[in-house]
This record gives sequence, structure tokens and C-alpha cells, in this order.
Amino acid sequence: MDAEGFISRLRAQGDYEGQIAAVRVFPPRPAQFAAPARPIAPALLELLRREGIGQLYVHQALAYDLVRAGQDVVIATGTASGKSLCYLLPVLQELVENAASRALCLFPTKALAYDQLGALERMVTAGGLEGVARPACYDGDTPTHRRPGIRRNASILFSNPDMLHQSILPYHARWAGFFAGLRYVVLDEIHAYRGIFGSHVAGVVRRLLRICHHYGSQPVFICCSASLANPQELAEKLTGRQMRLIDEDGSPRGGRWFVIWNPPWEEPTVRVFRRSGNVEAYKLLIRLLEEGAGTIAFAKARVVAELLYRYARDGLERRRPELARKIRPYRGGYLPVERRQIERALARGELLAVCSTNALELGIDIGTLDAAIVVGFPGTLCSLWQQVGRAGRRQDESLAIFVAYDDPVDQYLARKPEFLFHRPVEQAIIDPQNPHILAAQLACAARELALRREELSAFGPLAEAVALELARAGRLRAGANGYHYAMPGLPHHETSLRTISNATYAIVDISGGREEVIGQVDSISAPELVYPQAIYLHQGESYIVRQLDLEARLARVERIDADYYTQPLLWSECRVEKEVLSGELHGGKRFFGEVAVRWQTVGFRKFKFHTMELIGQTRLELPAQQIRTAGCWLMPPAEALQVLRAAGHDVFEAAAGVRNLLAVALPALAMCDRYDIGGVVDSAQFGALTIVLYDRYEGGMGYARHAYEHAEQLLQLAYELVRSCECERGCPGCVGPPNLRVPVHHDPDVAYTYKIPDKVATIALLRDWLEPAVVRASAADDGLRASSVSLR
Ligand SMILES: [Zn+2]
Repeated sequence: MDAEGFISRLRAQGDYEGQIAAVRVFPPRPAQFAAPARPIAPALLELLRREGIGQLYVHQALAYDLVRAGQDVVIATGTASGKSLCYLLPVLQELVENAASRALCLFPTKALAYDQLGALERMVTAGGLEGVARPACYDGDTPTHRRPGIRRNASILFSNPDMLHQSILPYHARWAGFFAGLRYVVLDEIHAYRGIFGSHVAGVVRRLLRICHHYGSQPVFICCSASLANPQELAEKLTGRQMRLIDEDGSPRGGRWFVIWNPPWEEPTVRVFRRSGNVEAYKLLIRLLEEGAGTIAFAKARVVAELLYRYARDGLERRRPELARKIRPYRGGYLPVERRQIERALARGELLAVCSTNALELGIDIGTLDAAIVVGFPGTLCSLWQQVGRAGRRQDESLAIFVAYDDPVDQYLARKPEFLFHRPVEQAIIDPQNPHILAAQLACAARELALRREELSAFGPLAEAVALELARAGRLRAGANGYHYAMPGLPHHETSLRTISNATYAIVDISGGREEVIGQVDSISAPELVYPQAIYLHQGESYIVRQLDLEARLARVERIDADYYTQPLLWSECRVEKEVLSGELHGGKRFFGEVAVRWQTVGFRKFKFHTMELIGQTRLELPAQQIRTAGCWLMPPAEALQVLRAAGHDVFEAAAGVRNLLAVALPALAMCDRYDIGGVVDSAQFGALTIVLYDRYEGGMGYARHAYEHAEQLLQLAYELVRSCECERGCPGCVGPPNLRVPVHHDPDVAYTYKIPDKVATIALLRDWLEPAVVRASAADDGLRASSVSLR
């Protein structure tokens, strides 16, 4: 497409209000080819020729040589750079040389496995290689009657970690032949294996390696990743093996135009709220469609994907009805057959646009699109670049538009585009040493094969202590040849890889006397989301929570017409249980350790839709919840607080501003969701004003640890975020509103007076903390002057 022309036409529109905050052009890049040193069978060369592949890209050739030499590798190159060939080629070569060999290819989602299987089957048939390669998918959808045949015959097995965990490893004896011949294990899209899921997958891979060892095989790992800051570290943590990193991308790329689109202020003179990013986005989508550009719009939430679709469809129906039929929404929750239909229609060009959640972010083939609209920062740069990469392949020019929301990170990116373009992507963090995850993995391992003591070290330094604990609790029994699982049944059924505990609440719609489950929420979040009388939004509809049944773990909700939404009032406290690490931080202090967090929904407030006018506040009596987790706590220097007090600032409010900023800055460094971390400000317990960040998972997930290790970088980023905002006294784009999910210190009996924290005080605190003493003296004066204005 002609991206430059499109951008200048946008600028020339009568209703253009300066939304384009930045435009960057990424020049096209030519292909770099290389010939592998190791031989490729003539049948495979022929197959490549049929696929139109005359030469391999440098990363494909290098991967082939290293893998064939028995080296574990991780390939971290761009979207659509031909990563599949990096593992398919060595796997197929192995099968040509040795028909008894086997390969296991694991994908984070079923859809991706089917997509890859389909592509391979087509290649195998076209190349007449049916006798050599017998690929098959084995997952929850595989019919029971087909499973024995697949176990016996498949030479390339496509599956997912959940299936390996639940249905393959516990029945390994049935797979004896497969494991004995297993030469290659492919882990694709490893950037999806982070947080809880990744920490569990690390355990599953160790269990897989024990089983392989038992049957006498030692497979080589081929890992593929999107661009990450630490692909090698992540691959090594997931597998426990030393990896060779391949990150020189030899694939060609067409030129790409990248636009940052910031919705204008609703009232330019007041400058508090910006216009809806969703509305701006659907209008851009319509314009792209009218110009015939194939477009994918990425939304952060399912509801938003549906909304964008409806807005765009309704908008087009009036002007270009034939185009209105060429859009579809796409998201999790659709039936697999519906999803396949949409993917195929896109790939064949029958559809022109799709409004999707991140469900289409992974590498499912949807053909060539011209443009991508990313509505709201998806949480990580890694995701953003994946989404942008879905448009434009090879030689074609493409356009990406990032539409900023009225939210701290989005606004920061709109103001500081260089952050987006020059910053390395995040680190993916996993913590296989989380004691809960480790306990679950060790129980499953012991059930599969007696767990010898010398095998424990492969599961990490805490494994021995956790195994002893399991033995004390009667779940494992120590025998002569190691630990045995001592309970009836399979522990696998109690362990989901995607959550820490299986405890979730069902959200049940009781409207009109029916009982239908319309959603789920994890038990930690339930009292904050579906408390009695809360308004629960689902598919754009309002539901009121009639009852929260803590015993039965369900919330009964009923459809109502409400012109308001609700926000919980949360009380929380965080107690330090054990200090593990401590250090200095620019004259202040930083700590890392174990913390106990208690929190409680003590009430809620009602706000009118659109105007956000506060129309009521109600108290609630719900029991407090508690978790023990990992925390990082930071203490500003005493003199910085003195200066702040002398200037008449509320130091607590300044710290609350910093806490809110840190809670949005941390996900930018560690690849977590804002929801994965919590924060409080406290002084009573610590004897000094302290900002605490903690992992919202029993046992911790590595994020607070990351905050401790990168505390300085984190504070600098928070300082950047707040300093660069155009607002006067604080707005949702910098110091907050109180993030619903970051609990706020609150006394329920005191009239609730929480407001957006004072931006001037927040800036003064960060400046005094971070800038050298010389600058500090004059800066404090500025702070004094500024504060005397804002306090009036
Ligand atoms: Zn602001």
C-alpha cells in the first residue's frame, strides 16, 4: 500500500485535529542468504524448490547446521522470518536419515499447532514425503479412537505443554516407542511461556527429560521466540540446557510506516480527559478499508474487539455496504471452527479486515495484510512488535498505527516515541522456584517415575526442601530409590499450567430465571470485581451482582439497564515477613523479601457513565484475603521527605503518586501485566515512609525481585513518565487515577477522599530522590514555588 499517501490524506482531512504524534519510517531490508555446511537430502532440496525457496536465510542455515550438530538453539528473529523452517528442515533431514526418529513440537495454543500441522502436511504431500514424515496433532480435540494410532505412528507430533503435562507424561509407558526415538523437541513461541505458565512449563520440560532419559533418548531442543530482551536466558531457564542464540535475521522486509495517533483532549482548555481511543481507531479502520487496505485491528479486551467491529460495520453499512461484509471480529471464546473459517477467509483475501484480541498475535497464517492498528498499548513492546508484524510481509510496504489510550504508558509513548523505537523489548520472567509450582511439578514427576534424590537438583535449588515438605505432608513417600507419589489418583488433574491454584469463581447469569455461566474470575480478584451490587460489564452489557457466594465460589449476576459503573474501595496492608536482600538506592534504601499481603473490599463507589460523576458510596462487609508472596520495598531518603514537608506537600500523597507510577513502569521492564503486581504505601510498619510492590501470586512470580534488581531504572522511568505529562496537576495519563487493581490505603470509616495524587509533590519527591545534590538545592526551590500554587 501507499502508506505515505494515506498519512498525508489523513492530515488533509477537514476533521484532522493533530492526532499524529509521530511518524517513523523503517526502511526496507534486503534478504541475506547462506548455504548450510551440512548436507540436505535431495528430496528435501526438491521440496524447498517446490515451496519457492531457492536459498536459505542466514538464520535458517545457521540453525540447520547447529541443530544437526546436536546443539540446543534458540532462534529469535522477527515475525514472518521463516522460523518454522529452522526446525522443520533438521527434523525432516533426521527422518530421511533415520525413520525411527521422532520429533515433538510444542505450541502455546492449539490453534497454532493446527496451523503449523496444516502447513507441514501440505508440504509433505506436495513433496511426496508421506513415507518419511508422518505429522499428527495430539491434543484435547483428538478423538479417542485415533489416539493409539497416533502414539504408534506419528513421527512428528504437534501438541501443547498442557497436553504433554496432563495426557502424555503420566501415561508414558504407552508412548515408550515415541520417547525412545525422540531426537528433537521444538518449543515454538517461547515468549508465551512466562509468568505462571512459563514457570510450570519449565517443570514440565524437566519431567519430559526424565522420561526421555528413562527410555534412553536425549533430545536436542529447538526453541523459537519473538524478539525479547532475554531469549537465551528464557530458553535456558525453560529447558535447563545451554542454548546457542541465533538472532541475525536474514529475511527481507518491506518498508514500514509507523504512526503514533493520540486522541485530542476533550476540552483543550481543561486538559484532563482525552477522546476515546476506540472511536478514533474505528474511524481509522473505516478509512483504511475504503482505500482497500487489508487491515488487522488489535484490541486489548474481547469487548473492545467486538465494539470496534460493530462501530466499523455500522459506519460502513451507510456508506459502503459491500465493505461492511468484509470485516469480522476474532477473539478467544469463539468455537475453533469459527476461528478457522475467519483465518482462512483472511488468508484467501475474502475478508479485508479483522478486529482481534491478541489471539491473532501468534504466528497463525492469515495471509498478507497491509495495515495494523494497535488500539492501546498491549502491555509489552514484545506484543506491540508482534502485532505490528502481522501486517506487511517481504517486499510490500506496510502501515502500522498505534492509537494511544488515556493511560500513563500510552500517553508516555505518545509523548516520547523514541522510547518505543529505541528501547529494547522486555525481559520475559519466569520463576520455576515458586514453591507452589515446584510442589505441583514434583508431585507429578514422582507419580510418573520414582523421583531419585540426585534428580531433584534439575528442578532447582529449592526442590529438595519442597520434596521434604511434600513428604512431611504425606503427599510423597520416601523409598529406597527415591520419592514416590503417596496419594491415590493423578496429581496432574489438580494442576493447571496456566494458574497457580485452580480456584476460580464462576459468574452466573440468573436473568429471567435461567442459570448460565458467562465468565470466570480467579479467586484473588473475585472480591474486587464481583462484590455484591457491583456492576459487571460483559459484552457491552451491564450486569448487577446479586450475590457473591464465597463457599460455592460463584457470583450471581443479573442483566440491568444501568447508567453507572462501580469501583471497589480496597483496604490493604502489607507486612514484611522476612528480609532477604537489602541495598542502597540513591540515598534511600531498597529491600527484597517475603511479605504477607492482606486486602479487603470495604465498599464501592458508583460513577455515572461518560461524565464519571460520583453518585454514591456504599460500605461492604467482605472477609479479608491474604497471600504470602515476594515484595520489594523502597524508602526515599529522609532529607527528600523533609524538603517535601517543608514545602507543604503531603508526603503520603507524593509516595502514592510514585507507587502508581512504579506499578505502570514495572510491566514495561518485566513482561508482566499490570494486574500481576500490587502496591501499597506504608509508614507505620517500617518506621519510615515506604513504597511496597509485590507479586499478586502466592509464593511470588519474580516481578518484585526484578523491581529490586532494577530499582534505579524503575524510578528513573517513573520520573520520566510523570515529568513529561502535559497536564497541570495530575491526570490518568501520569500519576493515576487510583489504579483499581493497585490497592489503596483507606480507612473505611473516613469519608473517602481519594483523588488523583498531587503531581507536583510526586515530581518533587522523585527529583529529590534521583537528581544529584547540587541540582537538588535549586530544584527544591522550584518545587516550593510550584507547590504553593497548586495547594491553593
Ligand atoms: Zn498527567
